[in-house]
Amino acid sequence: MKYPKLRELGEAVKSLFSKPYTTKFPKVAHEGFDGFRGKPEFFDEYCVGCGACTQVCPAGAIAVIDPEIIRKDNKSAPKRKLELRYDMCNFCGNCEAHCITEKGVQLTKKYDLALMDRKLAVETIEKELVVCEMCGGTVTTIDHLRWLVKKLGTLAYGNPTLLLVSQRELIPVQSGRKGEELRRPDILKVMCPKCRHKVMVKDIWG
Ligand code: SF4
Ligand code: SF4
Repeated sequence: MKYPKLRELGEAVKSLFSKPYTTKFPKVAHEGFDGFRGKPEFFDEYCVGCGACTQVCPAGAIAVIDPEIIRKDNKSAPKRKLELRYDMCNFCGNCEAHCITEKGVQLTKKYDLALMDRKLAVETIEKELVVCEMCGGTVTTIDHLRWLVKKLGTLAYGNPTLLLVSQRELIPVQSGRKGEELRRPDILKVMCPKCRHKVMVKDIWG
């Protein structure tokens, strides 16, 4: 019969009186360590609804949903919805790393994500949209424009849409003047890039 070595024996006795290495999960919720990549969540105060995170998500877990038709008679402002399906997420951290504000979406320490219904595994955020005064198309979100103005500083004055945003609090604009000619004075209007191109190139330069 082999006798246990003294060192192993000492370790065994020591372990009887020391704290366990493992956590008491699920009895006591385990706190993720710093840098833990858990459930990604949107943070309303930092997210501007630009949609950049959708472009870098390798799993296609984030979607930007804009209303298809922005009704003229709709009194409430149209909204962009961002949906993050964390059941599709691979926790790579790309969305957080490439978020234009750096904090709009963050990987939290939440890891206990099991659900009975996968449809519930979704994080959403809504942002007010700015629509083109000419065609009623989507420009971007109002928070995104404000963020651009702040980022560009005085350079924002080079773009009339940004100029208007920096000068006043935007109100929901009446969308659509479809079919009507674009005119030079239309330069000073909130516009999508397509209509601005028409005004600048077609109207001014013919
Ligand atoms: S601000 Fe960040 S989190 Fe929000 S839509 Fe843009 S990239 Fe995504
Ligand atoms: S962590 Fe990666 S996979 Fe998950 S939502 Fe962000 S970019 Fe997509």
